[in-house]
Amino acid sequence: MSYKELADLIFPNAKEISYYEEKYPERNLEEGAKVTRFAPSPTGFVHIGGLYGSAIDKKIAKQTNGVFILRIEDTDQKREIENGVEQIVSSLNDFGIIPDEGMTGENTEIGDYGPYKQSERKEIYEAYAKSLIEKGLAYPCFCTPEELDEIRKKQEAAKIRPGYYGVWAKYRNLPVGEAIEKIKSGEKYIIRFKSQGREDRRIKHHDVIKGNIDFPENDQDIVIIKADGLPTYHFAHAIDDHLMRVNLVVRGDEWVSSLPLHLELFKTLGFRPPKYAHTATIMKDDNGSKRKISKRKDPEAAVSFYHEQGIPTDAVMEYLLNIANSNFEDWRRQNPDKSIDEFELSLNKMGVSGAVFDMVKLLDISKTIISKNTAEEIYNKTLEWASRYDEDLKQLLDKDKEYATKILNIERGNVKPRKDIAKWSDVKNTMEYMYEDRFFDNVNYEYQKINDKQEISKILQSYLEKYFNISDDKQTWFDKMKDLAEEYGYAREVKEFKKEPEKYKGHVGDISMVIRVAITGRQNTPDLYEIMQVLGKEQVEKRIKNCF
Ligand code: GLU
Repeated sequence: MSYKELADLIFPNAKEISYYEEKYPERNLEEGAKVTRFAPSPTGFVHIGGLYGSAIDKKIAKQTNGVFILRIEDTDQKREIENGVEQIVSSLNDFGIIPDEGMTGENTEIGDYGPYKQSERKEIYEAYAKSLIEKGLAYPCFCTPEELDEIRKKQEAAKIRPGYYGVWAKYRNLPVGEAIEKIKSGEKYIIRFKSQGREDRRIKHHDVIKGNIDFPENDQDIVIIKADGLPTYHFAHAIDDHLMRVNLVVRGDEWVSSLPLHLELFKTLGFRPPKYAHTATIMKDDNGSKRKISKRKDPEAAVSFYHEQGIPTDAVMEYLLNIANSNFEDWRRQNPDKSIDEFELSLNKMGVSGAVFDMVKLLDISKTIISKNTAEEIYNKTLEWASRYDEDLKQLLDKDKEYATKILNIERGNVKPRKDIAKWSDVKNTMEYMYEDRFFDNVNYEYQKINDKQEISKILQSYLEKYFNISDDKQTWFDKMKDLAEEYGYAREVKEFKKEPEKYKGHVGDISMVIRVAITGRQNTPDLYEIMQVLGKEQVEKRIKNCF
């Protein structure tokens, strides 16, 4: 009895592997072009680490005129959720990460190297499993769960390495004839890889990010085809990376420990392995100690969080580049107005230890990016965000586009634009008081230094009667503010006040604060002159009169 007979019995209909090798030929790409892939399970959830990896995949592929693939690894069907692929596609899409090849929707895909969903590739895996069995490099294993449990218990008791390997691999050396008989009599089995590795030997490897590493060889006879007929991730991904002609795998460093196994699988299957770049995990500062960002504990682990919050996608992308390459910050300083697409990402400049995720920094980047947008752009992006997440804000924006854009244009478009918006969800708060009904419904005057009611009334009254003229230019307006200060015994200039504080009740800033609070209900606002211009004469008068 031969391995061939065994293989034919197990997979009678599998094609020759040469069929697939021809069907998915080497790609015709220019020298140095990288073929990368993001290969999540269809859990619907994209972790910030996954976004980071796929952003790198996409960028490197683009930089080298290569190909970026989105492949779905759904061989563990317990982890699936409904529309899980669709959600991943759309999360990536939200961040402008559009694959060149692979899944484009729950059941749609593009590219010549598909199918791009592992559950649709069953026959391909069978062909390769069959070829291994024919060569005696894979075999059926008839262990029951009880038997496996027993092996594990024995290993635990003897304090030896757990697993199915060497002498513990009960069916590794079962004569072919016996295996065939068992199968024919209907015994249940799975297919295992027959490892040729030895734990006491080491293999060397060069990781694009981590540099030279070495570890003990794999000697585990891992399962390659499960009882449900589907392959395990390890087996499937090796075949996929080979047949999709992936030549650079970028993935989180939690996969480094699987590398000895993966390298052995590639070698045994006769494939040239891709290059690997294992990226350091993004960490979180948890009261002074570093830990992984966790899906369970941290809302910012999910990329949907950034979208819901309205943090612009370009800010998130720029922040991720900051984490990826420490020279990015310098580049940005030298090229404040360039698109991040022009930054050349280098994998070998990536840090080996995990960067701590810094929300303050992200929001800072975001503020700068938003400050460079025009009022019109901010209007459109906020409206798009609000249409999904804030109906009230959407209505506010829809009501009068021109007025809303005027508000957003306050202190914008100049050399030092305002930087008070970090996310689209901040916009409401920066606009609301400019709308009459919202202002009068919510206003709560809290003055600062000057808080004597009578004094405030008098100041406001004088302002309206003697100084306020909506047609004044900014300089005249401010000079009049100084005149008002002087009339009430406040210094015209802060400098004067500081020189002789005993001489004055305060300074022009205290006076303009009174006007500011009266008009906006806030102590902090952008330029008051511009605000008054947008509100217009009647509204300013109405608001001031409301105070006395
Ligand atoms: N499907 C694996 C995951 O869930 C992919 C690992 C890899 O990139 O090789 O992360």
